[in-house]
Amino acid sequence: MVSEIKTLVTFFGGTGDLAKRKLYPSVFNLYKKGYLQEHFAIVGTARQDLSDAEFKQLVRESIADFTEDQAQAEAFIEHFSYRAHDVTDAASYNVLKLAIEEAAQKFDIEGNRIFYMSVAPRFFGTIAQYLKSEGLLATTGYNRLMIEKPFGTSYATAEALQNDLEDAFDDNQLFRIDHYLGKEMVQNIAALRFGNPIFDAAWNKDYIKNVQVTLSEVLGVEERAGYYDTAGALLDMIQNHTMQIVGWLAMEKPESFNDTDIRAAKNAAFNALKIYDEAEVNKYFVRAQYGAGDSADFLPYLEEKDVPADSKNNTFIAGELQFDLPRWEGVPFYVRSGKRLAAKQTRVDIVFKAGKFNFGSATPAQESVLSILIDPKGGVQFTVNAKRVSDAFDTRTIDLGWQASAEDKQNTPEPYERMIHDAMDGNGSNFADWNGVATAWRFVDAISAVYTADKAPLETYKSGSMGPDASDQLLAANGDKWFYTGQ
Ligand code: NAD
Repeated sequence: MVSEIKTLVTFFGGTGDLAKRKLYPSVFNLYKKGYLQEHFAIVGTARQDLSDAEFKQLVRESIADFTEDQAQAEAFIEHFSYRAHDVTDAASYNVLKLAIEEAAQKFDIEGNRIFYMSVAPRFFGTIAQYLKSEGLLATTGYNRLMIEKPFGTSYATAEALQNDLEDAFDDNQLFRIDHYLGKEMVQNIAALRFGNPIFDAAWNKDYIKNVQVTLSEVLGVEERAGYYDTAGALLDMIQNHTMQIVGWLAMEKPESFNDTDIRAAKNAAFNALKIYDEAEVNKYFVRAQYGAGDSADFLPYLEEKDVPADSKNNTFIAGELQFDLPRWEGVPFYVRSGKRLAAKQTRVDIVFKAGKFNFGSATPAQESVLSILIDPKGGVQFTVNAKRVSDAFDTRTIDLGWQASAEDKQNTPEPYERMIHDAMDGNGSNFADWNGVATAWRFVDAISAVYTADKAPLETYKSGSMGPDASDQLLAANGDKWFYTGQ
C-alpha cells in the first residue's frame, strides 16, 4: 500500500545533464507509483534564464521516453516551476525563496523541503550556508540536503566541505549520493547475509577465507581525461563505490534494520580499517595503467586524447583491506577496479574456506564461493562441492544460481529513484554518513600520498585483460586467487 509523500524538492542544477537524464524521470516514476500525488512541488533552479513554460518543456522532453499517458505527464509537469538564480549570489536567494513559498502554498505543502544539489561540488557548501542564512529552510517538517558526488577530493577537502555543511545542517539531514548503494543487488547483500542464518552464522573468519569485490569496466577513458587523469581508479571507483560495498560486507550485525543501527554497524567496521603506511601501501596495493591490447581500437592510456604523455595515473587498482576486528582476523578483503578490462562486471565473491574432510583418493573439496552479481546481470551464484559422476568417488564444484528475471529487472527502480524516495522518506540506510566517508578518505589518502610521491611501481596491463600480473601476485602471496577471471 503506497501512501502519499508530501514534499517540496528544489533541484539546483535543474537544467543540467543529470537532472534531465536521471532526476526528473525518477521523480516521474515516484509519481506514477503514487508516492507523489497532489501535495508535492518541484522547483528547478539554474543559471539559465528560462520561463516556467520553457522549463516545463525541458521536463516534458526529459520524461518523454517514460510517458505512456500524456495527460498523466501533463498533470505531473503542473507541479514544476523554475527560477533563474546564481548560487553564489546571496541576494538572488530571495527570488528562489519566493518561488519555493509560492509552490508550497499552491500545492498545500507545509514544511518538508529537500534541496538537491546537482551542481559542481565547489558550490555544495555555499548553497547550504545560503539556504540557512537567507531563510529558505522550512520551519515546520524536515529540511534535507541531497548531495551529488564527489564529496571532496581528499580527507582535508571533504572535511572542509563537511564543516561548511554542518554550519547549516546536522549530519542526519545530509543524504550523500553514491548510486551504487541504490543498486538492487547491493541492497541484496543484507538480505542474503541477515536473512539466511546459514550465511549469517558463517560470516566471519572461521568460515570465510577472503572477500573479493570487483568493479571492472571495458571502456577506456573516453572523453573524460581532464577529470579522470586527476582521479584515477583509486578516487573514481575505490574511495566511494567500492568502499561503500565493502561497508555492507564487513559491517557488524546491526541491532535493527533502521538507518541509525545500520550506520553504527558499518562504522564499527570502517573504524577498524587498517590505514597503511608507505611500505604497506606497496605490499597491499597495486596500481597500473592500461597499455595496448589485441584490438587496434584499444589505444594505450598514454596515447589517449588529452592524457599527458608522462601521466602516472592509475587506471587500475587492486588492493587488500584489513579490518582489525575479531570477526575478520586474518581475512583479507580484496578489491579491484579498472578500465579496459576483459569484462564489464560489478560483483562480490565471498570465498569460504575449503572443507577438511578426507574423501580418500578423491580430489579434495574446493572452496565454496557465494557470488553476488551486481551488474550488468543481477544474480546470485553459489559454487559448492558435489560428487563427480564417475565410478570412483570424486568431487567437483557445481553452481547453484539465480538470475534476476526480465520482470525483476523491469520492476527494479533506478538507483536515483530509490535514493530520492528514501530521502523523502527520511531513510538514510543507503547513504554514506560522514564517518564512513571520512574513513574512506583517510584510507585512500594514505595510498594517494605514496602514488603522488611516485614511491610505488606503476605496472602496465594489456587492454582486455583483467589487470597486471601483480594483481594476481597480491592474492597469491596469501595463497589466494581471484575467483572471477573475466570469463
Ligand atoms: P551540468 O554541467 O550538466 O549542469 C550543471 C548545472 O549547474 C546547470 O544547470 C547549470 O546552470 C548549473 N549551474 C552552474 N553554475 C551555477 C551557478 N553559479 N548558479 C546556479 N546554477 C549553476 O552538470 P551535471 O552533469 O548535471 O552534474 C551535476 C552534478 O552531478 C555534479 O556534481 C556531478 O559531479 C554530479 N554527477 C553527474 C552525473 C551525470 O551523469 N551527469 C553522474 C554522477 C554525478
